[in-house]
Amino acid sequence: LFAGDQNSVSLAEQAARLRSEIERYNIAYYVLDAPIVPDSEYDRLFRQLQELEKAHPELVVPDSPTQRVGGLPLAQFEKVEHKIPMLSLQNGLSEEEVAAFDKRISDELDGENVEYEAELKFDGLAVNLRYENGLLVQAATRGDGTSGENITNNIKTVRTIPLRLSDLAPPEVLEVRGEVLMFKKDFHDLNRRQRENEQKEFVNPRNAAAGSLRQLDSQITATRQLRFFAYGLGELKGSPLPRSQSALLDWFVQLGIPVCDERKVVKGFKGLMGFFNRIEEKRESLPYEIDGVVYKVNSIAEQQKLGFISRAPRFAIAHKFPAQEVLTEVLDIDVQV
Ligand code: NAD
Repeated sequence: LFAGDQNSVSLAEQAARLRSEIERYNIAYYVLDAPIVPDSEYDRLFRQLQELEKAHPELVVPDSPTQRVGGLPLAQFEKVEHKIPMLSLQNGLSEEEVAAFDKRISDELDGENVEYEAELKFDGLAVNLRYENGLLVQAATRGDGTSGENITNNIKTVRTIPLRLSDLAPPEVLEVRGEVLMFKKDFHDLNRRQRENEQKEFVNPRNAAAGSLRQLDSQITATRQLRFFAYGLGELKGSPLPRSQSALLDWFVQLGIPVCDERKVVKGFKGLMGFFNRIEEKRESLPYEIDGVVYKVNSIAEQQKLGFISRAPRFAIAHKFPAQEVLTEVLDIDVQV
C-alpha cells in the first residue's frame, strides 16, 4: 500500500465510524424517543462528519446522515407521503457563522440589509397538519422528511389545534407545519405522575412530547398536555401564496392556528443579533424549551430564488445556543463498522 492509500483508507474508516455512531444515536432519538447522548455531543459528531465530507467529497455516500433528514417512521403507524418534503435546518453556533450566512444571502440577493423573520427554535417535533376546505383531515410526523407517521387521531387530542379553520372561505388545501411541544411545567407534572405510577421518566420535554404524540393509543396522548406552534407552509391550493414569512404567520393567526408571539421582522446581521441576544436573556423565563432561534429570509419570492440544499432550505438558519449539557458519564461509543 502507498502512504496515500493508507491515509484514504483511514479517512474512509473514520467517516464510516462516524456515520454508524450517528445512526445509532438517531435510532435512539427519533425512533425510540430515548436519546443516549446529549444533543451537544451528537452535534459535535455530526459537524465532524460534515467537515470530513466537505474536505473529502468522495467520502459522501447517499445514505450519510448529512444527506438525509431525521429518522425512520415507526412501522406500527400508517405511512404518509409528504406532498412537499419536510426538511431540517442548517445551523450555526457562533456570531461568525451568522455573519457568514447573512453575507451569503446578501451576495446572492444583491442587496444589503436583507429582511428576515426571526423566530424561536422550539425544541419539540415537527408535524404537518393538512386542512381540506377548512377541515383538519390528516396530521403526520416529519419522519425521514419524505414520509412520516399518520398521527391524526393523536393530534386531534391537542386542544389548541383547531379541527376547523376560522375562515368562511378556506383554501381547498392548506398544510400547516409546526412544532408539537410540551411546556416545562407540564413536563414536570408528567414525570411526577410517571414516578408515582412507577413508570419510566422522560429525559426532557422534547422526548416527552415525541413519546406522547407517537402513542398507538390516542387515549394516552389525550392525558398529556401537548401544545403546538405553527411556523411554516406545506401544500397550498386555492389561495394565493402570502408574500412573506411574517404575513404567512399572521394569516395562520387569523385562521385560529396557534403561532408564538416571540417573533420579529429584522434587518441585516445587526437585527439578527439583536433578536438573538434579547431571546437568550429571557430564555429561562419562557414556559417552554428552545434550543436557539431561527432566521428566515422574509420575502417568499426571495426564498424561492435561494432554494434548497439536500436536507435544508438555503434561506434559513438555526442559530443555536451554546450547549448547556455536559457528558456526565463515560459513554460506550464503540461502533460496529
Ligand atoms: P434541528 O432540530 O436542528 O432543526 C430542524 C427542526 O427544527 C425542524 O424540523 C423543526 O422541527 C424545528 N423547528 C423548531 N422551530 C422552528 C421554526 N421556528 N422554524 C422552522 N423549524 C423549526 O434538526 P433535526 O434534523 O430535527 O435534528 C437535529 C438535532 O436533533 C440535532 O442538532 C440534535 O441536537 C438533535 N438530535 C439529538 C440526538 C441525540 O442523540 N441526542 C440524535 C438526533 C438528533
